[in-house]
Amino acid sequence: MPASAPITQDVATIPRKMPEGPVNLVGLTRDGLRAALIEAGTPEKQAKMRAGQIWQWLYHWGVRDFDRMTNLSKDYRAMLARTFVISLPEVVTRQVSNDGTRKYLVRIAGGHEVEVVYIPETDRGTLCISSQVGCTLTCSFCHTGTQKLVRNLTAAEIVGQIMLARDDLDEWPKPGVGANDAGPRLLSNIVLMGMGEPLYNFENVRDGMKIAMDPEGISLSRRRITLSTSGVVPEIAKTAEEIGCLLAVSFHATTDEVRDKLVPINKRWNIETLLGALRDYPRLSNSERITFEYVMLKGVNDSDEDAHRLIKLIEGIPAKINLIPFNEWPGAPYERSSNNRIHAFADIIYKAGYASPIRTPRGEDIMAACGQLKSATERARKSRAQIAQETGL
Ligand code: SF4
Repeated sequence: MPASAPITQDVATIPRKMPEGPVNLVGLTRDGLRAALIEAGTPEKQAKMRAGQIWQWLYHWGVRDFDRMTNLSKDYRAMLARTFVISLPEVVTRQVSNDGTRKYLVRIAGGHEVEVVYIPETDRGTLCISSQVGCTLTCSFCHTGTQKLVRNLTAAEIVGQIMLARDDLDEWPKPGVGANDAGPRLLSNIVLMGMGEPLYNFENVRDGMKIAMDPEGISLSRRRITLSTSGVVPEIAKTAEEIGCLLAVSFHATTDEVRDKLVPINKRWNIETLLGALRDYPRLSNSERITFEYVMLKGVNDSDEDAHRLIKLIEGIPAKINLIPFNEWPGAPYERSSNNRIHAFADIIYKAGYASPIRTPRGEDIMAACGQLKSATERARKSRAQIAQETGL
């Protein structure tokens, strides 16, 4: 755990505005797009309609070339091409696991890299997206937590992960093919469980998800988007009010003593404070349960006492508990609990009336499983640094 990284970092200090350059239309909210068109000379009374037309080309049809926006005049398209860009993160590597999981290493402005994971299942396809390069936090079981925060992702870089995955899955609608004939969506669910703490990049995450939920574009249901937080208490209610997606919490322990070590933000907002915020969660209901994520660490948080304490702690909160067998990474200070221990733990939770699915590790062969994400370059850089440190070269 990097000693220098603070437990938490005040949201205000993280820069939001990116370096200048031609305005990228991807990532702008509807109002932002309309304002950009007006600034570029579009008459105010036309701007809303133009923004709607461009929105559909970008997010419904997945078009990246202004010239293909054929319901706009040639001159207008030429103006757009002179003034704006349509830019997505660049896919550096694409790995496909034996179990069908896909991991993309993508490069963003400044040459930074983040990882994105697509997990196909029989009834859905989930994309695990990142919200920061590295992470503000240093959860000790998480590989990303060993990577210092470099910066927040912009809304363009967040929604861009969804768009590049749709490209790879060839999931943009085809002219003349109705939604009913297109078959089930390959990318039907989004989880903000990749690199970074999404609530330390609230505005960009909110704008990115609003774009993804917009019915005239990518049109993902808010109930198919889950934001996972390690417990940034002041931002939790805003998730319900301003995004409206489902909520998951990186819970992982049943005492403050253990959670302080596993999820250091607990030293700022402890279990009692966090549970208080969850009990007051504006969208709390039986049909929109909060997911408690619980990584199973051998001899750390996996005892029967832990299971009983967990049930006691979350009493009265409509919840489900996701048990995550720990996915080891190079240098990880923990081991995965045994299968018997995980099942014994799950039984106690289940008998108390909670759904307690055990998450099947996916993409382990390509280091795509939960908690294994860390940008390859960072991994390489680290080892180079280590080598330099060790050899003094
Ligand atoms: S678990 Fe999440 S919040 Fe914690 S270090 Fe990893 S990415 Fe960051």
